Amino acid sequence: MSILVLNDGSSSLKFGLYDSTREHPHRLARGSFTDLDDEPAFRAFDDQNHPLNNEHVNVANQEQTITWLLEWLAKTLPGNSIQAVGHRVVHGGALFSSPVHLTATVLKQLYAFIPLAPLHLPHNLEVIRTLQSKQPNLPQVACFDTAFHHNMPFIEQMYALPRHWFDKGIRRYGFHGLSYEYIASVLPDHLGSMAEGKVIVAHLGHGASLCAMHQRRSVATTMGFTPLDGIPMATRPGNLDPGIITYLMREEKIAVNDLDHMLNHECGLAGLSNSSGDMRELLADSKPESTEAIDYFVHHTHRAIASLAGALGGLDALVFTAGIGENSSTIRESICKATNWMGVEIDIDANKQHQTLISQPDSRISVWVIPTNEEQIIAQHVHSVLRSKIP
Ligand code: ADP
Repeated sequence: MSILVLNDGSSSLKFGLYDSTREHPHRLARGSFTDLDDEPAFRAFDDQNHPLNNEHVNVANQEQTITWLLEWLAKTLPGNSIQAVGHRVVHGGALFSSPVHLTATVLKQLYAFIPLAPLHLPHNLEVIRTLQSKQPNLPQVACFDTAFHHNMPFIEQMYALPRHWFDKGIRRYGFHGLSYEYIASVLPDHLGSMAEGKVIVAHLGHGASLCAMHQRRSVATTMGFTPLDGIPMATRPGNLDPGIITYLMREEKIAVNDLDHMLNHECGLAGLSNSSGDMRELLADSKPESTEAIDYFVHHTHRAIASLAGALGGLDALVFTAGIGENSSTIRESICKATNWMGVEIDIDANKQHQTLISQPDSRISVWVIPTNEEQIIAQHVHSVLRSKIP
């Protein structure tokens, strides 16, 4: 018996297959479809990270992609019939603070949240609907990227707008919650009792944000009403004066949809460098614009760390995770050097070797590299939701 975890982006679909018999489900296989808009490719690995597949696939839409995956799983890993499916869902609005079983009523509520995440949520819901129509009796569970931040203090959730907008849902939701929840769950394994202290987790990937935790709960985060806010990302700008938006609409007559597209796909590292939003490519490039884009990223991440430390009233530990955070010793070193005044003392060699603890023994703030695993936390949630339904 197994749990299938699906994490779909706009042009990719990642999956994990987990043994559902244990409380901490064990991963049997993982993989992804990439380049779904253009030349779809499929790669998969077993539990030992040995390749199971790597091929171009002929799938034209989400229904064909899901059908292809289910058939491939049945053929490649027979004897692991899927008992339930867990989805990473980008937005749970003000309503959902924990994972939910996807009933018809819940699905209807989620459709109402599409205006909150018009670029991501329709994809999520399409995959859920496709599975529902193919296998109506298969339980599906939604796990929300916003849920981990649901109980942030009021002054972190509120924008200084007329109050009635808060009631209409205009508030700071925060994202990357499944990644932060996973890190929070493993923090004691690394930090011991300090895990309950003041910790900032920097999820630095294609999308990037930071979360301030106290007692392993989110108390502040950089992303806001949408995932555009906070630090600069691959193609999103991060913090922006809202006056820029009204100026561009009024004076440059840029339409709302074009603005949406620009803000989500043409800004951040890609906009600054005028070439690429991919950190690895920028680091390998010597053009001044690429260097400036990296400097901007480091500077604003440093500012965010200082700001979140202010929200926490101090800082015990800094954790790096996700693509850039886990793999780029150069970016980690630059951020740690920028935060040296706060009490961060990096161990250059430990950092270069990608060790888990990368600060000096006497650093006032310890610094860690902990790989995230959103699929694992989703599998755990599905396991709990299934168990809670059994009387
Ligand atoms: P996503 O948000 O799509 O899940 P990831 O967490 O996979 O993104 O992070 C992707 C980012 O990580 C890209 O900018 C990529 O260049 C960067 N990255 C991955 N490996 C390295 C590396 N060794 N050095 C620098 N950047 C890296």
